[in-house]
Amino acid sequence: MKFFSNGAMEIGIDLGTANTMIIHNGKIVVDEPSIIAYEVSTNKVIAVGDQARQMHEKTHANLKTIRPLKDGVIADFTAAELMIKNMVKLIPKTNNFLTRSYKMTICIPTSITEVERRAVKDSAVHAGAIEVFTIYEPLAAALGIGLDIEAPDGFLIVDIGGGTSEIALIALSGIVTENSIRIAGDAFNSDIINYLRKNYNIMIGERTAENIKLQIGSAVTNLEVDVEEMEVAGRDLLTGIPKSVKLNYSEIAFALDKSLIKIEEAILKALENTPPELSSDLFRNGIYLTGGGALLRGIDKRISEKTKLKVTIGSEPLGAVVRGTGVAMSNYKKYAKILSNN
Ligand code: ADP
Ligand code: MG
Repeated sequence: MKFFSNGAMEIGIDLGTANTMIIHNGKIVVDEPSIIAYEVSTNKVIAVGDQARQMHEKTHANLKTIRPLKDGVIADFTAAELMIKNMVKLIPKTNNFLTRSYKMTICIPTSITEVERRAVKDSAVHAGAIEVFTIYEPLAAALGIGLDIEAPDGFLIVDIGGGTSEIALIALSGIVTENSIRIAGDAFNSDIINYLRKNYNIMIGERTAENIKLQIGSAVTNLEVDVEEMEVAGRDLLTGIPKSVKLNYSEIAFALDKSLIKIEEAILKALENTPPELSSDLFRNGIYLTGGGALLRGIDKRISEKTKLKVTIGSEPLGAVVRGTGVAMSNYKKYAKILSNN
């Protein structure tokens, strides 16, 4: 394996379905939603990240927004390249780097096919990277939350992102088993949209659903803390006129129930497929949650009740993958086993 040399800037990227994060010198320098806005007539990128998200679902014929990733993998290559390029431009300039050539470590889901992995690397190269390493997300996530991934000890990482929930059993710097389902944050948003349509005859957009999830979202109907009701506005499906309704967190837990059951089933399947010696490790270590979905209220409690295992929410779960990438990049020799550059 070749290690990074010369003066190129070293960056790590977590190109997520929902969020893109970039780490440089151990510091998260970009943290933006994975979305770009472009002008249709010229194909020019108008905005990237949060600025583009503000425009999402409010566009017109000559302005479109795209989320280039779907279900953890690149769905629109041109858009993904443009997004990577423009995200890299957001890295604050410092005096000590004059060059814009960079070497990238990109996180990839374990469920990725070889063809998709090549495509991710190609996108990075087209976006200007002179060398590209890849790292599997669950290993990066585990490093990012401070687990000793090299140990002869098993850990179950459940990463609930935007498009996918990835469940991986890791030990000895490798992935023992993994399974991934296309149920995660985006599915929760669709559940909320459907719930409001069915129960209140009110149509809301993706962004409103996301706000509801963040403000009053819950995985259980019996939270120990108080969550205030939320007033939500949308379009009345019968009259077409804007109207508002009040929602409480239990309704959201109800709306998300079917999706959460699917995530629980995937975790149970992973436990079933765990070799016995590692099962005994998991009995001790429990389950670690990462990704934005780990922040859904009560999700730890719910998964713990279902599996009878201890469930730990990784510290700052949204940044776990990119932080772990930073750790791996800080010592290429030590982590050579988990960084691939072919
Ligand atoms: P990805 O790696 O797929 O981009 P992330 O790990 O960045 O995904 O997580 C993004 C998802 O987490 C989004 O669907 C977002 O709505 C969700 N999320 C973020 N914060 C919260 C929260 N406090 N409660 C529930 N979901 C959250
Ligand atoms: Mg992710």
